[in-house]
Amino acid sequence: MALIVQKYGGTSVADTARIKAIAQRVVKRKKSGDDLVVVLSARAGDTDRLIELAREVSPRPDPRELDVLMATGEQITIALFCMAVKDLGCDAISFTGYQAGILTDDHYGEARISFINTDAIFKQLRLGRIVVVAGFQGYDTEGNITTLGRGGSDTTAVALAAALKADLCEIYTDVDGVYTTDPNICSKARKLNKISYEEMLEMASLGAKVLHARSVEFGMKYNVPIYVCSSFVDVPGTLVTQEDESMERYVVSGITYTRNVARVTITDVPDVPGMAARIFTPLAQNDINVDMIIQGSSGVPGKANISFTVSRDNYVETMKLVEGVAREIGAGEVHGDDNISKISIVGVGMKSHSGVAGKMFNALARENINIMMISTSEIKISCVIDEKYTELAVRVLHDEFELHKDPNGSFSIKEETFN
Ligand code: ADP
Ligand code: ASP
Ligand code: MG
Repeated sequence: MALIVQKYGGTSVADTARIKAIAQRVVKRKKSGDDLVVVLSARAGDTDRLIELAREVSPRPDPRELDVLMATGEQITIALFCMAVKDLGCDAISFTGYQAGILTDDHYGEARISFINTDAIFKQLRLGRIVVVAGFQGYDTEGNITTLGRGGSDTTAVALAAALKADLCEIYTDVDGVYTTDPNICSKARKLNKISYEEMLEMASLGAKVLHARSVEFGMKYNVPIYVCSSFVDVPGTLVTQEDESMERYVVSGITYTRNVARVTITDVPDVPGMAARIFTPLAQNDINVDMIIQGSSGVPGKANISFTVSRDNYVETMKLVEGVAREIGAGEVHGDDNISKISIVGVGMKSHSGVAGKMFNALARENINIMMISTSEIKISCVIDEKYTELAVRVLHDEFELHKDPNGSFSIKEETFN
């Protein structure tokens, strides 16, 4: 008998018919002998609708109250699901984040889990019940409801699996595993049998929304095997686990993209010490994360241009803050662009191969896709491009790095290919 944490995403519990279908699947599994903790998302679209509702009332909704509101989406599904399970003759109990003992920091909308008190869950498991937990939510030390950031139910599931020392965390979604790139925009995307935590973390952080990045962090830290699979069809999925010999030895193993970026440029910034601090401190004070930063000559002696990217959600606020600072420091103009996207190639094999960046830039150049910004780490290269080329860029890079080819087939990568 194993202890399994299962998570079902928004499309998997999109309506009452789906909720009943998932209840049947869960009851069958329980009857086979496993102990089950089931984490549910809100119905697909519900969280977006709740945010829209808040905006109808207030242009900048109070963060605490927005979390109270957003947390209701998951409470609908856990209650309906437990009703369906009980009608099938199995016992189940629903828990909010608070009832499940999920303590977080007080960062509304992006809270991090700091501790999980597992007593209540273990007590219910011992009584033979299926424990059904609302994903995406917790509470802080003052007892306020918090949410974990969009897509955060994955993190609830993996963190619970770690705290409960579960044997496996199964993530059920609308795709049947982790692919070399988003299968919904690239028909040649290939499903991976296994992927390392390290690569998955990078892919998730760079836009592969199949897993919430922090869920992979938890998996990696506590060594929880994560199995991503479909809640619609019964086919093998993808195991996210520690890197091993059997993993595919591609130099590049995945392509990701995110449209959730915006770029801000300040021209003619006085090229003297302290300017970057003047520009970026107010952003940090307002919890705005800056991703890529480029400083270059402006053509005017003693002046520089500074460009950086932020999440699109922070674009309007960033522009306002930066326009204020630019005036104070006597810089030139502030330009913004939120019609951009970031496209990235990811692979642990890059650590030991050169020439990968050149191959990426050449492939984009052949399609006349202009690269506006570049950033690299040991296992990824990201480029900012015009948003309208996002899907084309994904497909071109997928072809360039031949990710559609099965490494277990006749094709095998040769080191010199990239030198
Ligand atoms: P859920 O509601 O189940 O949490 P999400 O919509 O958050 O599901 O995540 C699943 C989606 O992730 C897929 O429909 C797919 O479009 C997208 N996706 C992006 N990159 C990948 C990838 N590399 N492999 C699989 N799916 C991906
Ligand atoms: N319901 C939340 C969202 O839509 C959390 C999740 O689905 O993981 O972001
Ligand atoms: Mg998700």
